[in-house]
Amino acid sequence: MSTNTNNETMQTVTRRVDAAVIGSGFAGLSAAYEAAKLGKRVLLIDKMPNPGGNSVMNAGQIAAVGSPNQEKAGIKDSVELMKQDMLDAGVSLNHPNLLEKMISQSWDTVKWTMTEFGIQYRDRLTQMGGHSVPRTLSTMNHSGRDIIDPMLSKIQYMPNVKLEMKTKFERFILEKNDENGQDEVAGIEVSHNGVTQDVICDKGVILASGGFSADIPFRKIQVPTFGEKVMSTNQPGATAEVIKESLKISALPVQLSHIQLGPWTSPDESGFGLAPFFCIGAGFPYGIIIDPDTSTRFVNELGNRYERSMAILKMCHPVVCMTDSEGAKHSLEKDLTKLEPTLKAHNSIEEVAEEYGMDPIVLRETIDKYNASVAMGEDEDFGKLLREDAAPLVKFPFYSVRLWPKVHHCMGGLHINSDAQVMHVDGYPIKGLFAAGEVTGGVHGGDRLGSCATLDCIAFGRIAGKNVATFNKKKEGDLHNVAT
Ligand SMILES: Cc1cc2nc3c(=O)[nH]c(=O)nc-3n(C[C@H](O)[C@H](O)[C@H](O)COP(=O)(O)OP(=O)(O)OC[C@H]3O[C@@H](n4cnc5c(N)ncnc54)[C@H](O)[C@@H]3O)c2cc1C
Repeated sequence: MSTNTNNETMQTVTRRVDAAVIGSGFAGLSAAYEAAKLGKRVLLIDKMPNPGGNSVMNAGQIAAVGSPNQEKAGIKDSVELMKQDMLDAGVSLNHPNLLEKMISQSWDTVKWTMTEFGIQYRDRLTQMGGHSVPRTLSTMNHSGRDIIDPMLSKIQYMPNVKLEMKTKFERFILEKNDENGQDEVAGIEVSHNGVTQDVICDKGVILASGGFSADIPFRKIQVPTFGEKVMSTNQPGATAEVIKESLKISALPVQLSHIQLGPWTSPDESGFGLAPFFCIGAGFPYGIIIDPDTSTRFVNELGNRYERSMAILKMCHPVVCMTDSEGAKHSLEKDLTKLEPTLKAHNSIEEVAEEYGMDPIVLRETIDKYNASVAMGEDEDFGKLLREDAAPLVKFPFYSVRLWPKVHHCMGGLHINSDAQVMHVDGYPIKGLFAAGEVTGGVHGGDRLGSCATLDCIAFGRIAGKNVATFNKKKEGDLHNVAT
């Protein structure tokens, strides 16, 4: 006999598996694969009609220390340096044990995606904002689909994994431990086409349900200014019900109000759009961001996401990111016509000024000043890290987009230990409950650096999958004694 979190008595066991995984993004697929490889029967569910969550529409970027690409380019990097970069961006709210575990496995994680699923990455590394060195690898099409599709194809042929779409996690099924009186997770209640089923999980449940950026009521409670008027880059299924049910069974939340805005999104397109592909590859590293009111720069274009988003919001109106035709060649989306009409081309500085109501004389001075910084190799005004191949903005056409931040990532979530066990408010791991990916908190602290979420989801997804497979509910509690 068991009870669900509404305290209803559950009589009928309709299904029995070793592990249930909730969510079919990077974290869920990595977890399901690892558990299945260890011979466990896995039920993988997702409430949406199509698998992949935010992961499938992600930009395919993943940070790693010690890649052969870094070695080839002579880039000196270390676990400590990446950790420091993440702590700086996260204002030291990051949980160091999670950071260390993830970063020390970063190149191995990328290698795993290559060897297990045949995923390919481009030769070139990207220098992303807030990272002190180039360490970001990109998949061939700059898309999370490059990772999700091969994972799905392989998992589909594993006889012991069943992927069920349009199947929603509703509640936990709990069991009381006779010895210590603590609630343990015995399974989950799911719904599919209006029919409810109980799934009893002999090994455990893995939460991989992503963040809640698209859940306006929930995110507005955490950050009142992120209400209806703030757009989001996320898919509509990025909602908070899994976190809410976890809170009902006394899972410990961490930093839920740390919600990230993306500084590279445009108000002229919906969702994530294509502007970020222009800005991340070209506009930010090889161009400038200008306040149209003053026709001047106002922020380090390669600062971390928080600094840039806040600086833009302070302007109270959209700003303009611009580079010349040489800089635009670095756009992650090579076919610039795909970015029209959000992306605009201009044959003179006067045309740029006219488009955005800027002062052409001041704009020319701004560009001249930036070009002088590039020539010197030092940005005295904003401390931007100028790449060796950065060049003055001189070649027309110039290209520009308007920018206004959108809600992008939830740094906060459920507290896990470094074995991906979900922690109870009283400081012990909830038996039979694991979590990985954006549903968890602590890795990114106050703000996430670009390309670190893919790594987080896959690294901890793998840990959760391996640990659920080897977990013995009867014997084991804390797989790892460090509870932070
Ligand atoms: C547009 C975009 C681009 C990005 N690009 C990058 C990038 O290049 N590099 C990087 O590091 N990060 C990037 N990120 C962030 C990163 O993609 C996400 O943090 C990551 O994909 C989250 O993966 P996940 O597995 O935790 O969750 P998701 O991939 O979001 O998957 C969660 C799944 O759980 C399902 N689910 C939720 N609730 C339930 C429920 N009750 N029952 C059943 N199923 C449920 C959802 O439907 C969803 O399919 C990007 C994010 C976005 C939105």
